[in-house]
Amino acid sequence: MKATLAPPSSLISLPRHKVSSLRSPSLLLQSQRRSSALMTTTASRGSVAVTAAATSSAEALREGIAEFYNETSGLWEEIWGDHMHHGFYDPDSSVQLSDSGHREAQIRMIEESLRFAGVTEEEKKIKRVVDVGCGIGGSSRYIASKFGAECIGITLSPVQAKRANDLATAQSLSHKVSFQVADALDQPFEDGISDLVWSMESGEHMPDKAKFVKELVRVTAPGGRIIIVTWCHRNLSQGEESLQPWEQNLLDRICKTFYLPAWCSTTDYVELLQSLSLQDIKYADWSENVAPFWPAVIRTALTWKGLVSLLRSGMKSIKGALTMPLMIEGYKKGVIKFGIITCQKPL
Ligand code: SAH
Repeated sequence: MKATLAPPSSLISLPRHKVSSLRSPSLLLQSQRRSSALMTTTASRGSVAVTAAATSSAEALREGIAEFYNETSGLWEEIWGDHMHHGFYDPDSSVQLSDSGHREAQIRMIEESLRFAGVTEEEKKIKRVVDVGCGIGGSSRYIASKFGAECIGITLSPVQAKRANDLATAQSLSHKVSFQVADALDQPFEDGISDLVWSMESGEHMPDKAKFVKELVRVTAPGGRIIIVTWCHRNLSQGEESLQPWEQNLLDRICKTFYLPAWCSTTDYVELLQSLSLQDIKYADWSENVAPFWPAVIRTALTWKGLVSLLRSGMKSIKGALTMPLMIEGYKKGVIKFGIITCQKPL
């Protein structure tokens, strides 16, 4: 079993070995192959008690995520605008960018992701989009304007959903886009409603990656596309069963402040998609393209305006800011990877 599956202890009140045995089968495909043995172990420990504990830990995580984004989204918007994700940069560029340069890099991230997935502007087929983990709706509004598509975004944060809807109204887009509070693992949509399912930096929050991916596939229309852009840990080498303890420790510290469960690798996502018979599965490691992002966020946090806003925003924001150097360390040491995984649902 991969030690990397064990969630950070702050989020889970169960002893670690119990959590692992419960969660591993659904987290990773690889683990699914071993799932019946693991389920049996779980059942023999008293499945009712374990299931109840898992439900409450999942709820605690959901609440933590909602509270985190309720508190921090205003601060982020004030300083960085409505895209709550990394920018896409030229890895060879050594120029220190202006604020507008970073915002352009965030738009470039959307454009590059669409391009990578083979979704082009000429594509008239994109009529409906589901934005899973929508933040304050930056991607949805951009994609709605670009394709003339209808977008529905979901987030766990009521503050984000309200702000996203308000911005849509202010930008005269409310006939095209709307946002609501809903869980990505249990989406309030019918099967096959979406030509494009978009998950920009939300997958890392999902405690059950298999369920997450299954829901993305369920709401995608036949022939539709799925784009997952997400934080991953490095792929394990052949014969390697888990990350190194120091690597796991680094990720656990990030998990605590950013409300993340156990991480997985890009390969884990690819295997999940393969198991569901998705087509045209593509993936890439964009870690080098996002390298300038966290240093830039730290620079803005250290300005006078940044510091004042941070202090006003509250403890979760301050803890988040203090965790940012760990993200840089994770990328530099090759533990953290910025992955894009895309595919098409068969007709
Ligand atoms: N995609 C947005 C926001 C990224 S921040 C952007 O690029 O601007 C992560 C988002 O994932 C937040 O909006 C958070 O509420 C959402 N999220 C995390 N877990 C979720 C879940 N289980 N269901 C729905 N949304 C979730």
